Amino acid sequence: MNRMSRRCLIGILGGFIATMVLVATLHYSTVNLFLGVLVGAVYSAGIRPTRWAYVDNLMAGASLGIPLWGLISVIAVPIMAGQRPEWSAEQMRQHFPALVAWVVYGATLGIAIQGLQDLAALFFGPEPESPVSPVSVKNRIVILGGGFAGMHTAECLEKRLRTDFSTSITLVNVTNALLFTPMLAEVAGSSLEPSHISTPLRSALHRTEFIRGMVREVDLEKRLVTLDSSDSTADGAAGLRSVPYDQLVFALGSVSNYFGMANIEKRAFNFKSLLDAIRIRNHVIEMFERADREPDAHLRSSLLTFVIAGGGFAGVELAGALNDFARGILVDYPTLHPQELNVVLVHSRDRILPELSESLARYAQEKMELRGVTFRLNTRITDAGDDVVSIGGGEIRTKTLVWTAGTAPNPLLQSVAIEKDKRGAVIVNDNLAVPGHTGLWAIGDCAAVKDAMTGQLCPPTAQFALREAEVLAGNIIAGINGRPARAFHFDSLGALCVVGHQTACAELRVPFAGKTVWRFSGLFAWILWRSIYLLKLPGLERKIRVLMDWNIELFFPRDIVQTVDLK
Ligand SMILES: Cc1cc2nc3c(=O)[nH]c(=O)nc-3n(C[C@H](O)[C@H](O)[C@H](O)COP(=O)(O)OP(=O)(O)OC[C@H]3O[C@@H](n4cnc5c(N)ncnc54)[C@H](O)[C@@H]3O)c2cc1C
Repeated sequence: MNRMSRRCLIGILGGFIATMVLVATLHYSTVNLFLGVLVGAVYSAGIRPTRWAYVDNLMAGASLGIPLWGLISVIAVPIMAGQRPEWSAEQMRQHFPALVAWVVYGATLGIAIQGLQDLAALFFGPEPESPVSPVSVKNRIVILGGGFAGMHTAECLEKRLRTDFSTSITLVNVTNALLFTPMLAEVAGSSLEPSHISTPLRSALHRTEFIRGMVREVDLEKRLVTLDSSDSTADGAAGLRSVPYDQLVFALGSVSNYFGMANIEKRAFNFKSLLDAIRIRNHVIEMFERADREPDAHLRSSLLTFVIAGGGFAGVELAGALNDFARGILVDYPTLHPQELNVVLVHSRDRILPELSESLARYAQEKMELRGVTFRLNTRITDAGDDVVSIGGGEIRTKTLVWTAGTAPNPLLQSVAIEKDKRGAVIVNDNLAVPGHTGLWAIGDCAAVKDAMTGQLCPPTAQFALREAEVLAGNIIAGINGRPARAFHFDSLGALCVVGHQTACAELRVPFAGKTVWRFSGLFAWILWRSIYLLKLPGLERKIRVLMDWNIELFFPRDIVQTVDLK
């Protein structure tokens, strides 16, 4: 029996034991039984066995009980009964026995799984390790960039190569974690802890060599990548390291594009990385602190005006999250009045969310306006000073500008002698290979990928980056084994956008029904958004952490502790 089957079997048994607690406390239902066993299997599959870790597993299991209670007893059960989930004090009192049952279930699950793992080790020996054979490496695949495209390429290669160790996989990234960008607005809005939406690349990948470093140069002739890697002094030059390759994947993503407007670039916040989100959150809190002691009403108003440039997904989600956050923390600043607060979204077109249908975009705008967001449509930001943002024919007094109005492929690619389109994205053929360069590939936001069936340029989204990674991994292996490559084609599954407190818009394509789409808005779309992205967030542990953050957010006010020294 392999390692995963053994863990799953233990999980099913442990889940069954713990479910007896649920059945004894809550009334019996087949759904409870099924869910209890399923959670047990997933929990067990996700944890690495450690002998005698009873206390750790008891705590982890009991903590898992809280999000399960929120998700199942508070949200799913009322919805299945045709009711709206409610968070009133009265409702929470009614849900309290279920909370106790789920926490006891979780604690029992943790202990049961630990006990079963210890018993299995006693009778059958420790878990089998992955076989490592001392074969010499014939092919070196190097992936530049550990975002959605790069990390998933490595995952797919690991799956395809399994026990074939004649091909090595190396992944290079500036940070040591994959950032789950769809949840970035929730970090800026203080709903989620920053590290909970980042997945460590070292633990997510099993046989890939991970190097934390900044790619500085790619020598196509010598087939060498030069990295600035603080932990290495190889090659003589301090911090520089050379990595040879046979197959090289460009998955370096994109950066903010300020279209040459230097003042804006100097003063605006980017909204691409985890640090950007942390900085925005801290800056908003800083503005509240300063406004709290500012006697001049005009200055107070400019401190409490937050301008977001760009009405695409990132801008709209950020405006919604910041608006909720800012209005939520007003309670901690009794001297400030809600009318002094202004979240402004500036967009160059006549409607926001061009990726969604017009009716959903209108719905999103109306909902956000009702909650206090101001929209400046058909308006471009032309300049920015310390206290002002210039817009076509006018200005907005503010100390906060966040830029989501444009992106460009990673500028490092400019130094590599391969063909690029006018945006600077690497041109690839239908198989995702760089034409004229054997063993060079590019995917994700840094590549100009065309759908082989429609000829349309693929949008720069995680959804496409992940599908491109799957095809690319297959094509690299096919190339090594002398088999034909596959052309890339993918029909978008749809789009989801959160516009603020428990409200979202969703447009999903109906599988096997041509161009038919389902459109949802409001609470149901929001639950859909949370469920889908929670499932997509890599790693069981991260999922549990995010679930717990969301549950905590239901009962407690947003955190206003500043975590970065703004100076
Ligand atoms: C706020 C926000 C919300 C989003 N929401 C969604 C959404 O809901 N759904 C969706 O489908 N898409 C969404 N996207 C888009 C999605 O994040 C991107 O399309 C996706 O990340 C592209 O994947 P990638 O791997 O090409 O690039 P990235 O994920 O950006 O990865 C590139 C990686 O390369 C690394 N890197 C860059 N330069 C170097 C260097 N010189 N050396 C080493 N490493 C380097 C970076 O650190 C990064 O890890 C969102 C984007 C943002 C910014």
